[in-house]
Amino acid sequence: MSGYVVGLTGGIGSGKSLVADLFVAQGAALVDTDAIAHELTGPGGAAMPALAEAFGAGVLRPDGALDRAAMRRLVFADASAKACLEAILHPLIRQLSSERCQTSTAPYVILAVPLLVESGTYRERCDRIVVVDCPEDLQIARVMARNGLPRDEVLAIMAAQASRAERLAVADDVVVNDGERAKVHDQVAALHRKYLVLSAEKVKASC
Ligand code: ADP
Repeated sequence: MSGYVVGLTGGIGSGKSLVADLFVAQGAALVDTDAIAHELTGPGGAAMPALAEAFGAGVLRPDGALDRAAMRRLVFADASAKACLEAILHPLIRQLSSERCQTSTAPYVILAVPLLVESGTYRERCDRIVVVDCPEDLQIARVMARNGLPRDEVLAIMAAQASRAERLAVADDVVVNDGERAKVHDQVAALHRKYLVLSAEKVKASC
C-alpha cells in the first residue's frame, strides 16, 4: 500500500494533464478526480441512478451515460441543480479517490484535483502539493486552442477558479510550464526523485 499522496493542481490549461502523464511515465500512480467523475457518469456509472432520479430521463443519453450538454443547460438555468449535482457526485468522487489512493502499490500517488486549492477536504489528504504554473496569457491561448472557446469564456472559467497567486501560496513544489515540453519533463523527473525519497522516509517513520 502506498501511503504518500502528492496533490497535483493548476488552473485550466496550465498543463496538469501533461504533468500527470509525465509523473506516470516516471512510475507514479495517478488518481484523477476528473477521470473518476467521467467514470461515475458514463454508461452504467455508479452515479447514474441517483442522477436519473434527481433530474429525470432528460439528462440521460441513449447508452445510459450522462448527457453533459443537457446537464450543463439545467445547471446554467438553475443554481440549485448545480448544488444537487454536486451533492450526488462529490461524495462518490471523494470515496473512490480515497480508496484508490489507499490501495495503490506505487511508491507514491499523484492525486490530480483541478480545484484542490478551493477544497479543504482534498488538501488535508495530501502529504505535499505540486502546482503547475504558467503565465495567464499562455493559459488563455492554450484553452482557446484546445477547447475552441472564445477568450471571454476562458476568462469566465478562470475567474471562477482560485487565482494564480492563491494556488502558488499553497504549493510545496511548482512545475513551471511556460515553454518547451522538455523543460517540463526535466522538472517532473527531479520532483519524482524527491518524492521517492520523501515517500520512503514516511514509510520508515511509520515502522
Ligand atoms: P490542463 O490539464 O491543466 O487543463 P493540459 O495539460 O490539457 O492542461 O494542457 C492544455 C493544452 O495545452 C493542451 O492542449 C496541451 O497539449 C497544451 N500544452 C500544455 N503544455 C504545453 C507545452 N509545454 N507546450 C505545448 N503545448 C502545451
